[in-house]
Amino acid sequence: MGLMMIRNVFLNHKPGVLVVEDGKVSNFGRQEPEEAGAMVYDGRGCHLLPSLIDVHVHLREPGFEYKENIKTGLEAAAGGGFGRVLAMANTSPVNDNASVTRFMLSRNRESHPHGPFVHPVGALTRNLEGRELSDLSELKDAGCQAFSNDGMPVQDNELFRRAMEYASDLDMLVIDHCEDTYLAGDGVMNEGRISGYLGLKGIPSTAESLQVARDILLAAYLDIPVHLAHISCRQSLELIAWAKGKSIPVTAETCPHYLLWDEEMVQDYNTLAKVNPPLRTGDDVLAMRQAVREGVVDIIATDHAPHAGFEKDEPFARAPNGISGLDTALSLCLELVRDNTLGLKDLVRLMSSSPGRIFGLPVNSFQKGDPADFILVDMDHEWQVNPESMLSRGKNTPCQGRRLRGRVMAHFIGGKEIFSRF
Ligand SMILES: [Zn+2]
Repeated sequence: MGLMMIRNVFLNHKPGVLVVEDGKVSNFGRQEPEEAGAMVYDGRGCHLLPSLIDVHVHLREPGFEYKENIKTGLEAAAGGGFGRVLAMANTSPVNDNASVTRFMLSRNRESHPHGPFVHPVGALTRNLEGRELSDLSELKDAGCQAFSNDGMPVQDNELFRRAMEYASDLDMLVIDHCEDTYLAGDGVMNEGRISGYLGLKGIPSTAESLQVARDILLAAYLDIPVHLAHISCRQSLELIAWAKGKSIPVTAETCPHYLLWDEEMVQDYNTLAKVNPPLRTGDDVLAMRQAVREGVVDIIATDHAPHAGFEKDEPFARAPNGISGLDTALSLCLELVRDNTLGLKDLVRLMSSSPGRIFGLPVNSFQKGDPADFILVDMDHEWQVNPESMLSRGKNTPCQGRRLRGRVMAHFIGGKEIFSRF
């Protein structure tokens, strides 16, 4: 591949030139090295960030290609800055066996051979039914990166314990969607003042924190790590902080929507803001922001959940849960950088280095020899979220029509340009 120079860029607010050699980072410096034959790329004053890693997406293939497929999902990932995504198992058929895992990986190779890359998450239980464990060893051998019953949380504590033990024997991590499905019942939004006002059935935040507590207690008892998906409320954070204080091996993620929006978004029965766990109170949002800043929450993931327009046009109680997140996540998180909730370094930790470390994926820290996986971000570029500007087939986001600031202009993986808006 040879030598490449990305000039006219900023790394950690310092201007300079990135030198890439044979797909790996060689050096970042002030001066352009004198190298004959190097390919020169003009970064046009953009900021250099490592390629992002999203540990929670739904790509809908196989089975729900009318919502999204692996090709369109990866196109949205590429344009949103994500070089690697962990894809959940609630496809049809469910990813609970090697043939589905291999199918997903082959779709990835066909549409995006140079990345972004899908890392399938195997179903923890057969058909996600929560009754019988999947063949986790088969799933790992086929290429799964982690296991989860996301969407259909395991209620049987003994079965969940065995799942953790089995995964740990394989040196794999279990991701838990924390929800007591009995407490959540058929609720459709956060339980509280607004659900009462709108006459909608609520989901108490305790439905989440109760399961968070179970997972922490099992992780402590077994001394086996567990990763908690899409955390949304203050009480869960208090439990996680307690666990981390005791060195219990627990990690956690949240999503841009829990950091930016509260239950008021659901006013007017806005189905685009219907998501599970539901958007919580303003106080929960404040707690979430503090938690990502202080490291109580390790990762920002999207929980990218694309749906077709006609599905979100249903009445609120019947519309499916989920927000399409890959296109907008980075731009939304840059709002948190501009209001000083987070530094750019925190954002890199939350969206690239921590997810890579926790899930054993390659990370670019811009050190010599790191994979040259990076994005060029124009911090001032304004764009409007609309069905045309979104690359995902799922247009379901409550920021539809809004103008956002900051956008990925180019994306490189292994030193190869896989996406450009220039
Ligand atoms: Zn989930």
